[in-house]
Amino acid sequence: MNHPADYRGRRVVVLGLARSGVSVAKLFHKLGADVIVNDKKERANSPEADELDALGISVLCGYHPDDLIDERTALLIKNPGIPYGAPPVRQALEKGVEVVTEVEAAYLISPAPIIGITGSNGKTTTTTLIGMLLDAAGKQPIVAGNIGLPLCEAVQDAKRDNWIVAELSSFQLKGTQSFRPRIALLLNLAETHLDYHGSMEDYLASKRKLFANQTEADTAVLNWDDPVCRETAEGLKSRLLPFSLYEKLEEGVCIEPPFARDTVEGSDGLADTGIEAERRKIVYRGPASEGGSETVIMPVDELGIRGRHNAANAIAAIAACLAAGAEPAALAEPLRLFKGVEHRLEYVCEKNGVTFYNDSKATNPTATTMSVRSLNNPIVLVAGGLDRGSDYMELLPLFKELKGLVALGETRSKLERVAGLAGLTKVESVNAEKDAESMLREAVSRAFAMAEPGDAVLLSPACASWDMFESYEQRGSMFKQSAHTL
Ligand code: ADP
Repeated sequence: MNHPADYRGRRVVVLGLARSGVSVAKLFHKLGADVIVNDKKERANSPEADELDALGISVLCGYHPDDLIDERTALLIKNPGIPYGAPPVRQALEKGVEVVTEVEAAYLISPAPIIGITGSNGKTTTTTLIGMLLDAAGKQPIVAGNIGLPLCEAVQDAKRDNWIVAELSSFQLKGTQSFRPRIALLLNLAETHLDYHGSMEDYLASKRKLFANQTEADTAVLNWDDPVCRETAEGLKSRLLPFSLYEKLEEGVCIEPPFARDTVEGSDGLADTGIEAERRKIVYRGPASEGGSETVIMPVDELGIRGRHNAANAIAAIAACLAAGAEPAALAEPLRLFKGVEHRLEYVCEKNGVTFYNDSKATNPTATTMSVRSLNNPIVLVAGGLDRGSDYMELLPLFKELKGLVALGETRSKLERVAGLAGLTKVESVNAEKDAESMLREAVSRAFAMAEPGDAVLLSPACASWDMFESYEQRGSMFKQSAHTL
């Protein structure tokens, strides 16, 4: 697309009235475009519409008009979650109208360089951590994107010496064209969101758009332990800065001595047999062209977040911050203090020796697997939720390691079946006819009844929440409330 200022006097359609839609509509209106905002949701459920109305922006709610995209339409900016098959998007593509997401427009007007973070799991944790680390290093970060503050809003407040730290989903990236982050991170890739993308190839291609416009002046931070991320390094124009838990790297951020791949995490969620945790260090090795310097960042067991997956998030964040010019010495203290983000392997409370953890944000099997293996206690898992069509057989090895399972939501029978195949005997399923709150309360009390002192009850659903809850946050908060009131 052209620079947003070039749309003065031209028609721009914004599809989807979420926070990012409102902010991009206001931006184009301010720049003199003729903006129309459209959302399928009823007007009564769209409180944001009033604010736009008051500014003189046309807002159409409750349906997609057939003639929404006409010959005057110069650009369609769609909410990332709206599929490409939705009628207005299809019509725009048929008529040759450009279709982008808000990220593209934000990039074009940003005075500040952007750090873009994507991956199947760990985005919010890594984004939050990069924000904290850059803050400690005096780099004036503005944390935005999928995590909360719309990018369009963030970049309008930014100055040249800020860093925009942007969490980006594959949906957002699919709608970019010229977007070029100064530093781009791909954390990992698991099979997820296939209902939206249709195929793993499309999902991958969307994630890889993050690197498409990078130049030699930019940096690509890639997970060297993930084969798909490694493949992404082929054909990169930017500087490669890999990170690894399992390999000593000639250049990049790694753990030394490295973890062994096939070992189980120890009581600290990190160590493996044979090597004491305190011997492991996070090490940065610079490029040979700059003398190949080696810097020890900190001992790995001093990280404030637990689990090997979080150690991976931490070293990814370190790599990004070093690429942004942060002093290595500034990083250790905030890394010790950061205890993670709410709803991500969050400690809740202890009752009669049973510990409760809320990992409601684990919305796919890979995330659940990581979390279960980060805890050293025998685990009663509370899982299940929106059915996206998977058979969940990939959870079979994990279910063999559980003490018990309480299955809930649309996927409960599928999970029960996998638990049966895994030979798990303590399995219960909670009736879906109850309202969400009482159902979760019952799930928690059944899980508690299955557990013994020393065990953990973990909500890590492996599924999205929208079958019964408004959001994963609501699901996590209800779980915490239920555990506290047992
Ligand atoms: P995202 O924003 O990508 O959804 P989060 O940081 O919110 O990621 O973490 C969501 C869940 O994913 C966590 O609760 C945890 O179970 C799991 N997770 C976090 N980091 C990783 C990682 N690096 N690899 C695999 N799973 C992870």
